Amino acid sequence: MLDSHTHSEHSADSVMPLDDLISTAVRLGLSYLAVTDHMDRDFLFCKNAKSVRQLDLPAYAAAIDKAKKVYGGKIKLAFGIECGYSKASEIMCRDELKDYDFDVIINSVHSVNDEDIYIESYYKNKTKDEILLPYIRAIDESLDIEMPYDIVGHIGYIARKAPYPFEYADYDGLFDKIFKKIIQKGKCLEINSHVKFAKADFFPGISLIKRYRELGGELITFSSDAHQTFRVAEKYPLIAETAKALGFKYFAAYLSHKPEMYLI
Ligand SMILES: [Zn+2]
Ligand SMILES: [Zn+2]
Repeated sequence: MLDSHTHSEHSADSVMPLDDLISTAVRLGLSYLAVTDHMDRDFLFCKNAKSVRQLDLPAYAAAIDKAKKVYGGKIKLAFGIECGYSKASEIMCRDELKDYDFDVIINSVHSVNDEDIYIESYYKNKTKDEILLPYIRAIDESLDIEMPYDIVGHIGYIARKAPYPFEYADYDGLFDKIFKKIIQKGKCLEINSHVKFAKADFFPGISLIKRYRELGGELITFSSDAHQTFRVAEKYPLIAETAKALGFKYFAAYLSHKPEMYLI
């Protein structure tokens, strides 16, 4: 087992000590764990964002460095980050991240047109198209960020709060464009088991993963997006079985931005 996406107390929305996260992964027998705390510089530009504690990147990097020494022989530990994309924060992120030797960077969309899409009021008086289309377009735009990201984070995240299903057939042309771009750029699609309130087992859903595969997509990874110890590697067996049934053979796990392939 492996887990490519987890958060510790260095993220604003987690209180899990880094040590608890890593020791849980070791106890569960994971071969690989990426700690990918939030860098939410996009929220600094959001009209509706509540004030979010921002990542202290030097402190986080130092903590991971120390942990790598402690857990070196027990697990492959990756220094990662989940960078929240927005056009407004793009240059800020790129400049900040270039001074660190990350193993893996996840490129995620949590805000659309400078609005935090986790805030309930975002959905008020909007149609399905008014909610889902700008989100899908933001993902498309995020793929072109000038930053050495490896993984495309949780496509479908908006379904945690949006009262609509997130299916391939509804926006097939846009999804094809996104998947072709991911494949052409050599990026990895994550399957994320942290769905919260959505009527889904993971993001993106089967209709989307299936299409990615049909278009020639091979790079996928497993992500629990755990913010608490009990969620580390959650739903790994379900997602592994699903991926296998759709024709995937490997999960990719990144060290120094290079994918190592783990047989599913
Ligand atoms: Zn996220
Ligand atoms: Zn996350």
